[in-house]
Amino acid sequence: MLACDANQTWSQFLEFVKSRCSQTAFENWLAPIEATESEEGKICLQVPNIFVKAYLLDNYKRDLCAFVPVDTDGEPAIDFKIVPPSYKPAPVKKEPDHASPSIDHATETREYELKLNQFYHFENFIEGPSNQFVKSAAVGIATHPGRSYNPLFIHGGVGLGKTHLLHAIGHSVKKNHKKLRVQCITTEGFINDLVDSLRSKSVDKMKRFYRSLDLLLVDDIQFLQNRLNFEEEFCNTFESLINQNKQIVITSDKPPGQLKLSERIVARMEWGLVAHVGTPDLETRVAILQHKAQQKGLTIPSEIAFFIAEHIYGNVRQLEGAINRLSAHCRLLDQEVNEKLVEQTLSELFQRPHKEKVSVEAILKSVATIFQVRISDLKGTSRTKDVACARQVAMYLAKEMMGESLMMIGAAFGKTHSTILHAYKTIENKVKNDESLRRQIALCRRHIDL
Ligand code: ADP
Ligand code: MG
Repeated sequence: MLACDANQTWSQFLEFVKSRCSQTAFENWLAPIEATESEEGKICLQVPNIFVKAYLLDNYKRDLCAFVPVDTDGEPAIDFKIVPPSYKPAPVKKEPDHASPSIDHATETREYELKLNQFYHFENFIEGPSNQFVKSAAVGIATHPGRSYNPLFIHGGVGLGKTHLLHAIGHSVKKNHKKLRVQCITTEGFINDLVDSLRSKSVDKMKRFYRSLDLLLVDDIQFLQNRLNFEEEFCNTFESLINQNKQIVITSDKPPGQLKLSERIVARMEWGLVAHVGTPDLETRVAILQHKAQQKGLTIPSEIAFFIAEHIYGNVRQLEGAINRLSAHCRLLDQEVNEKLVEQTLSELFQRPHKEKVSVEAILKSVATIFQVRISDLKGTSRTKDVACARQVAMYLAKEMMGESLMMIGAAFGKTHSTILHAYKTIENKVKNDESLRRQIALCRRHIDL
């Protein structure tokens, strides 16, 4: 298509849409587009950014087809070329009030508000094997922003403390590095900001704001997926900060490689440190429960805390829900926390693992056979090494296979919940280095009659 044809076609299209959209929309979105020549059967449109392209296609695709060449799929045959405004000579404007981002606008300082959840600090983040690594990485970043891992990418399932850690970094940097400029946003927030500034023609100002930060905390990057138009701007901001050694921390529900984002941005996110937050183990859950209960002025006896933590294991938010509910009931009924109250108030929150029903008797029978001891010895109190070890294996298997609480298993063995837990941990540790014990336990599992 020749240049003059392209221009003519485009002017005709603009004339057509001008009467069909508001003047502001026209000025903001359509007027900046320029048509130039392209290969045969196509038109080339120069757009200032990817959003203008998206706006055009989202709103005027059908109309476009009536003006510009159409390809074999019936789609408008357009070559889009992104030409940022700064690379073009400033257009001569007849009406200054419709000018694209003016200097006055751009030099204005931006409203700067950092919103951090006041409860999310490092001090009240409970550590355990599932989150120790990520927490130390977060503390490292907060101590030396921009000088350790960049970016830090935190991923893991919902309710496991990603946002908590992100805000904790923010609090810590605000406190210890007062001069640094920090911003914490959700990915939705970033997108909305971008949309707003496009609307108010202050994109440059927004860009300048984000690119002038020392620490950018971005929550839930998974929401950038399928938002192609915004990915590029995010990526540019990201690269600009990283190139200046400014710190970025990102959270996500998946590791970078599993996000449906461009290879470029995934690769950038993998540059730094990728850290996983897992589901907390039983003891960490108990510690979290106790901590949250204490904050609410609630005292929970240890075996009850274990009982709750054994039945609520999905994520920390559920544990918090349980504490809130328990605390409300205790207050309303003016009662202490006890097993009955817990059953009454929390049983519907309890998650029951779908494990096949295994009985203690079946476990004892199998362990007795494989370890060549008597069932009565396993049930007894003999402390000879072989019997004691076999007994601990039986408890270990019971905990692993029965899907019951430690209290229930304890009752079946005539022991306390802490004896069962101790046995479980002892065997769990031993099998790490003891291949023959591991094999014996595997044999026991196979021998258990279901
Ligand atoms: P995510 O962002 O991973 O979905 P959040 O950070 O919002 O999870 O955490 C959910 C809730 O659980 C928050 O109230 C948070 O304070 C709490 N929480 C999560 N992990 C911990 C932890 N290790 N110690 C204390 N509280 C935690
Ligand atoms: Mg979160």
